[in-house]
Amino acid sequence: MRAYARQCDKCGMLVTPRGGATPRFCPTCGHQFLDSPAYAGQRSDGSPQATAGGAVASLVFGILSIPIPMIGLILGIAAIAAGVRAKKRIEHSGGRLGGQGLATAGITLGIIGAGIWTLFCAAVL
Ligand SMILES: [Zn+2]
Repeated sequence: MRAYARQCDKCGMLVTPRGGATPRFCPTCGHQFLDSPAYAGQRSDGSPQATAGGAVASLVFGILSIPIPMIGLILGIAAIAAGVRAKKRIEHSGGRLGGQGLATAGITLGIIGAGIWTLFCAAVL
């Protein structure tokens, strides 16, 4: 069992392991790390283990939403929904899931794609 330094999600203070044990609470603000066991699998460099599945889906939907006529509107909305869900999962994973950038890109592309085809539909209909 290795000890890990972790960042307090309340005050942002980096809490280093003491006596070879992963910290259970923040000495600065007293915030208790209820999700400590989840950190057992985190690499010591703090980089996420996996990319949130929805983040990749969001980016793919977002990219496809722009060149595909009409269906792009649905894909754009799907990209936004998947991206927002992925971001929430990443936030709640406490650093175990990555892909924040992918999700943001997917949401942005989804908004562009959905926007283009909404305007297109409005212009044609
Ligand atoms: Zn704190």
